[in-house]
Amino acid sequence: MVHLDFHPSGRHFLQIPGPSPVPDRILRAMSYPTIDHRGPEFGALGRKVLAGIKEIFKTRHPVIIYPASGTGAWEAALTNTLSPGDHVLMFETGHFATLWKKMAEALGLRPEFLGLPGIEGWRRGVQADMIEARLRKDSGHTIRAVCVVHNETSTGVTSDIAAVRRAIDAAGHPALLLVDTISGLGSADYRHDEWGVDVTVSGSQKGLMLPPGISFNALSPRAIAASQNATLPRAFWGWAEVIEANKNGYWPYTPNTNLLYGLSEALDMILGEGLEQVFARHQRLAEATRQAVRAWGLQIQCADPAVYSPVLTGVMMPDGVDADAVRKLIYERFDMSLGQALGKMRGRMFRIGHLGDCNDLTLMATLAGCEMGLKLAGVPLAGSGVAAAMASLAAHADKPVLKAAA
Ligand SMILES: *Cc1c(COP(=O)(O)O)cnc(C)c1O
Repeated sequence: MVHLDFHPSGRHFLQIPGPSPVPDRILRAMSYPTIDHRGPEFGALGRKVLAGIKEIFKTRHPVIIYPASGTGAWEAALTNTLSPGDHVLMFETGHFATLWKKMAEALGLRPEFLGLPGIEGWRRGVQADMIEARLRKDSGHTIRAVCVVHNETSTGVTSDIAAVRRAIDAAGHPALLLVDTISGLGSADYRHDEWGVDVTVSGSQKGLMLPPGISFNALSPRAIAASQNATLPRAFWGWAEVIEANKNGYWPYTPNTNLLYGLSEALDMILGEGLEQVFARHQRLAEATRQAVRAWGLQIQCADPAVYSPVLTGVMMPDGVDADAVRKLIYERFDMSLGQALGKMRGRMFRIGHLGDCNDLTLMATLAGCEMGLKLAGVPLAGSGVAAAMASLAAHADKPVLKAAA
């Protein structure tokens, strides 16, 4: 028998930007017995999670929950709204934007990839003015959708979605707006209705603190109308049957019952803390992380302070340092996983996740592991990032995490 030694002493530090650590509360909730997905209790669970998830997306319209990873929900967003050969405008913010574009090609769409040259585009967010200029030139309105990533997990850059909506409106263009916030939802401010998004794609294993395995499409009335005329083939991903069954809290097929118990618990946790408080906590932890990176004398991958991600921070290595060797050393010595650099950034940076079930001391341990590992790897550091992060957390006081006993 193969013995998998996953149980060293203490907790593993899963500081990748998703999957994020699953809180014990959620793991326990998921251990309830699996019930009849056509029975009465299930309907109550379904109705609760379908109502709660709308609060997280800040929408009054339907949210579809799929038993699939985020990639499946990407496909659902495209196949429900578009037809073969449709021209779509996408924006290169990093690896995930690139993968979504490849999927669009595979599905028989004609994506056009806007972006800044070289790695510059991987250090800044979506440039809404470039989208506006491109749409203005499309006087025949052949572009059917604009697709952008809100929180680019490969770089640690969060794009301004409201600005993209303003750009589409300023050009007087009818294209749908499809947004991936797979790693932003439940961590970074997001407003599906207010920002005029037509389909928002998200997943379970990042800010929602769940294991991988469920994903979402939040819809707009325009997206639902578009789905009635779109002709890309879709069966499992089709919205109409799910929306119908969801009216009573059920699904047209077997949903992921135990992950929905987990989602119910996650909603209690996030809405109990308060969505705005959750966002503020992420901003605070992200700021302390950036202070640490600056004190080390290293570069933050995101080059535009207006769009720093509250979810993760990309740390660029000095020339000649293999970021993957540093990550490996930290993993082996301190049992901590950091995010690998993807695509164009391979080997040149690593990513620190500070999302979901993370507090001041989780972050400090994480940064201490990074600092020790960087030193052991021989990376020259200008100073102590740990000290800088502690000072930042102390200076930006948060509300007490526990209420004093009465
Ligand atoms: C994680 C992630 C995905 C892919 O989701 P899977 O659940 O791995 O299929 C897509 N886009 C972004 C921005 C992500 O962070």
